Amino acid sequence: MSDTLGDGKLELKQVSKEVKESENVAEKYSAMTVSKNSEIVMGELSVSSAAFSAVPAHKPVKKQIQFVEDKQEFSRFPTKAGRRSLSRSISQSSTDSYSSAASYTDSSDDETSPRDKTQLNSKGTNDFCVKNIKQAEFGRREIEIAEQDMSALISLRKRAQGEKPLAGAKIVGCTHITAQTAVLIETLVALGAQCRWTACNIYSTQNEVAAALSEIGVAVFAWKGESEDDFWWCINKCINMEGWQPNMILDDGGDLTHWVYKKYPNSFKKIRGIVEESVTGVHRLYQLSKAGKLCVPAMNVNDSVTKQKFDNLYCCRESILDGLKRTTDVMFGGKQVVVCGYGEVGKGCTAALKAMGSIVYVTEIDPICSLQACMDGFRVVKLNEVIRQVDIIITCTGNKNVVTRDQLDRMKNGSIVCNMGHSNTEIDVASLRTPELTWERVRSQVDHVIWPDGKRVILLAEGRLLNLSCSTVPTFVLSITATTQALALIELYNAPEGRYKQDVYLLPKKMDEYVASLHLPTFDAHLTELSDEQAKYLGLNKNGPFKPNYYRY
Ligand code: NAD
Repeated sequence: MSDTLGDGKLELKQVSKEVKESENVAEKYSAMTVSKNSEIVMGELSVSSAAFSAVPAHKPVKKQIQFVEDKQEFSRFPTKAGRRSLSRSISQSSTDSYSSAASYTDSSDDETSPRDKTQLNSKGTNDFCVKNIKQAEFGRREIEIAEQDMSALISLRKRAQGEKPLAGAKIVGCTHITAQTAVLIETLVALGAQCRWTACNIYSTQNEVAAALSEIGVAVFAWKGESEDDFWWCINKCINMEGWQPNMILDDGGDLTHWVYKKYPNSFKKIRGIVEESVTGVHRLYQLSKAGKLCVPAMNVNDSVTKQKFDNLYCCRESILDGLKRTTDVMFGGKQVVVCGYGEVGKGCTAALKAMGSIVYVTEIDPICSLQACMDGFRVVKLNEVIRQVDIIITCTGNKNVVTRDQLDRMKNGSIVCNMGHSNTEIDVASLRTPELTWERVRSQVDHVIWPDGKRVILLAEGRLLNLSCSTVPTFVLSITATTQALALIELYNAPEGRYKQDVYLLPKKMDEYVASLHLPTFDAHLTELSDEQAKYLGLNKNGPFKPNYYRY
């Protein structure tokens, strides 16, 4: 069967048609508001409003962010004086999502700020600011390697290229700049878009990839190790270009969106929509929407099933060991580990550690997650019960002060402490900056904090996301998120006026299923097809959606 989602061969057009056909089912199953507008046809590529339509999701995301600091940040314009102050990542969001953070290029060999260099690409243009344009060839190889594990995006390129559904789109993007993001950006370009790009994190840019993108004419403003001031300067350069006005935003963390709000509010007259990936950015959008200040429609990619259940769970399952091993060379077998938080990230981390023979404890505030942990074979404890005995402490709650100074005082000699959750708030690192404690940098991203009695605690990445800071994450997982982002951009850009209001929308399940289907051929996975009788019995359309919106997977 060549036209099922399972074969990954279903055209978007067909998805759209089938969503229409299954409107009744969707209504029955969920509170999803299916737009009555029918398809927008882009030749081969056709996406219906119903396909993406979208639940204006009025309920704010529960996860909390702190806004106070952000407000201060947004009031700052780049100043010359601030340029050298390499500070912590300013944006909470800048550590909220994940990428293959480690650049393979060590930028420390050249201390000159890219802002002070004049560089030209081989076509003689200079509308970019990267560490070293000469690294473009190396970056190109990195992108080609990433492409091999991002076949869904490549197939999207092939399917939609003839029609160029993004022709005329002027996309300004703020994401991690890695080989995987480059595959997304080049897909958008292949579909007709012009792109200007900046980094959402001061540490995660792969310099060689930024160079490769600049070489092909994408205006990239980013390098690994930007200062706080550089960060905003780069965002500003991306937006503020004479004769060029963005009409779409792709954001990861909300910093770009907020910069446009603060400094270029008139741009929203031309902007057709915002696509946002991160927990933090989505939360900000809901806040804007609630306050009646959201000027354009926005797509919440973060809460797509294909993002949350893959990025958070599988990405962390694959990268936790890598981050720990690269920094400490620790052996996992028999080690006692406590994982704080048993959400998606916690589930991924515990699964990996258990498989390596570690003895794993879990802390939780939620009885449901606690019960899940129990049923999965983990001891659920309070952190204080095990703090003196454990070898490794990992936080992944999205909360703050989960590990306090008092608990750090009681850890045993040689304990490893790290964070896989949101930003750098989970471990009270600031409380360790006191005169009686000595800090010794033993490796990149590895500090020994030494107590007066000689006890050492090994702190990784200064409490920032371990995998983001110290390892890479699997390309394949990023492919899933990137495909969702590309489809969301296509839909928002092509939607006729009025289809989307100034609200935050979720991608409907049918599109989530479509994104998943595009990735199945990699595994040569063969889906079972419902018989007519079975479809009728379950009340389903044979081609999906297969689950109600409230299904939790
Ligand atoms: P989640 O909401 O599914 O899980 C968090 C869990 O922590 C919840 O079950 C909650 O009850 C629990 N919790 C909250 N406060 C706690 C406390 N004081 N002690 C113990 N448990 C507590 O969220 P998630 O998807 O697992 O994401 C967790 C964090 O990781 C978020 O900040 C998210 O942004 C981040 N994240 C990181 C990566 C990565 O690659 N490192 C990937 C995705 C998400």
